[in-house]
Amino acid sequence: MKVNSNFDSLVPNYLFADVARKTNEFAAAHPEQEIIKLGIGDVTLPLAPIVVAFMKKGCDDLRNKETFKGYPEYEGYDFVREAISGYYKRFGVTVQPDEIFVSDGAKSDCGNLPDIFSTDNTVLVTDPVYPVYVDANLMAGRKIVYASSNKENNFLAIPDEKVSADIIYLCSPNNPTGAAYSAEQLKVWVDYALKNDAVIIYDAAYEAFITDDSPRSIFSVEGARECAIELCSLSKTAGFTGTRCGYTVIPKELKRDGHSLHALWYRRQATKFNGVSWPVQCAAAAVFSDEGLLQIRDNLNYYRRNAKLISSALDELGIYYTGGKNSPYIWLECPNGMGSWEFFDHLLQNAAVVGTPGEGFGENGKGYFRLTSFGSYEKTAEAVERIKKLLS
Ligand code: PLP
Repeated sequence: MKVNSNFDSLVPNYLFADVARKTNEFAAAHPEQEIIKLGIGDVTLPLAPIVVAFMKKGCDDLRNKETFKGYPEYEGYDFVREAISGYYKRFGVTVQPDEIFVSDGAKSDCGNLPDIFSTDNTVLVTDPVYPVYVDANLMAGRKIVYASSNKENNFLAIPDEKVSADIIYLCSPNNPTGAAYSAEQLKVWVDYALKNDAVIIYDAAYEAFITDDSPRSIFSVEGARECAIELCSLSKTAGFTGTRCGYTVIPKELKRDGHSLHALWYRRQATKFNGVSWPVQCAAAAVFSDEGLLQIRDNLNYYRRNAKLISSALDELGIYYTGGKNSPYIWLECPNGMGSWEFFDHLLQNAAVVGTPGEGFGENGKGYFRLTSFGSYEKTAEAVERIKKLLS
């Protein structure tokens, strides 16, 4: 037998392993120093009380014969899809409940969605990029092309009319750059996709962090329903990284090659996915209740306050960065022309602060660095003081 030789084309990504190794070595050599991690890509605050209460209720239901639940529907329970549809309505976007697929998170969906497309399709991603989009498509043998996000376009890549693509991944607010597209910029991508008969897979995992008038959904842009699929996650919105729940929206009218993409995805999910557990769906619906939205806002504001601390320090230091405003990520230009690993070492050795070297996210990450706001306020404030002392 043969294995999938496409795995040979994956570039080994030792980023987080190397970060951990260097951090551990420093800790062993300097046991007296407190290391502060500003590279955390995971949430640290607990679930909101109402979410826990509904998850517990869901567990109680499973204890009783009358309320017990077996296999859930592949696309999620109606009350959850209605709650998500209601959430969209709050920011002025109409998405019907039956266009929503509840999932175990955005990572699986962004990696699995291309199952419904031919492996002959070309995939366009922005550089720097959330690596899952690239690796999932390389595994399937698809060709990848890159759109450059860089300082000139404020890390918001725009389409190149000379490049054609079939599947386009956009992530806004972006991981790793924190940059968020405006409605006008997204319209350019929508027009490009329509012209190319392409489909945009729009990753809105960080939409809840938006504080200005940047679109919370690609479906607020005219024409998007004819060319876009949107995926979102409760991971960062409501602290579900360990609980696992997300959702994907495929408009009913979205067709390619004579097929409804909604119908193809339903078929795919029915074959390879058996749904999200009852307690987790109960918890997910609670997130979108009036009380749930109020409660998750506390955690979002906590992370926003950390982001503001970091971005204000960079403003003071005169360092170029994107993100921090609509995003838990701050993407900064390494000072004094340092490379991203060079800056990593500099920060670790002289301030005992850990971040993520940008080059782990693509060529355009060289010379850039990602900090995150998922740490505690006290530790973030301390790290910021150390960074200011080191760099001023
Ligand atoms: N999409 C982006 C851009 C992310 O940064 C992440 C997580 O870091 C995910 C998707 C994964 O989300 P989930 O936890 O729902 O799988």
